[in-house]
Amino acid sequence: MKAKPTADNLHPHTGKIPLREREQRHGHRGCVVWLTGLSASGKSTIATELERELFRRGCQPFILDGDSVRQGLCSDLDFSERDRHENIRRVGEVARLFSDAGFICISAFISPHRADRELVRNLMPAGTFIEVFVNAPLAVCEQRDPKGLYAKARKLKIKNFTGISSPYEPPLKPEIELRTDRLTVMQAVEKILKRLEKRCRIKSVPGKSAGKLPGAIRWSDW
Ligand code: ADP
Repeated sequence: MKAKPTADNLHPHTGKIPLREREQRHGHRGCVVWLTGLSASGKSTIATELERELFRRGCQPFILDGDSVRQGLCSDLDFSERDRHENIRRVGEVARLFSDAGFICISAFISPHRADRELVRNLMPAGTFIEVFVNAPLAVCEQRDPKGLYAKARKLKIKNFTGISSPYEPPLKPEIELRTDRLTVMQAVEKILKRLEKRCRIKSVPGKSAGKLPGAIRWSDW
């Protein structure tokens, strides 16, 4: 559900390009692939490979990543509960804009709170929010620790670190769950692609040739 705007006298402008026409041009439906999970569970790694593979198939993917967003759009926010909530709210609104523009928006955020993720889901038209639980046990994430953050959190050099000093609420009914301690990165990506073939009508491209992209989709394909 959208937050009530503080300002009055707002008259949103409607353009002349229906979403359907945008999607027809892109050759797939717009949607949000929302990757949630502990730090080092594999969100960014999977997002990057998924984006590359979607692009190879001629789709229009774009990644929103926690660390990048916190350097710009959300540079005024910290990791307090209040600011984490505001971070996800803003990112959710941006993800929705991408989806409205017919893109496949891949969002990689710890997004520890169920209520915040549900808020984003409820911003989207039904069926366009695909929640992906990137699930690896805390011990595995801590062992990977690619950015050395768990080590710092254990030494109390980082406050409010999810999984250590701040809670993570796993999704109850994610569209997809990826056990990244059992799957390879590419197996995880394949699982998402399979879902997107059904949900967003992306093309399944056999073989590995990067050159041949699918042509414009016909109305009758919808
Ligand atoms: P996050 O974005 O969730 O914080 P990252 O993608 O930055 O996590 O880091 C995950 C680390 O785990 C990377 O070093 C990656 O190479 C490693 N890794 C090992 N196996 C997997 C897997 N199956 N899926 C994703 N990442 C994996």
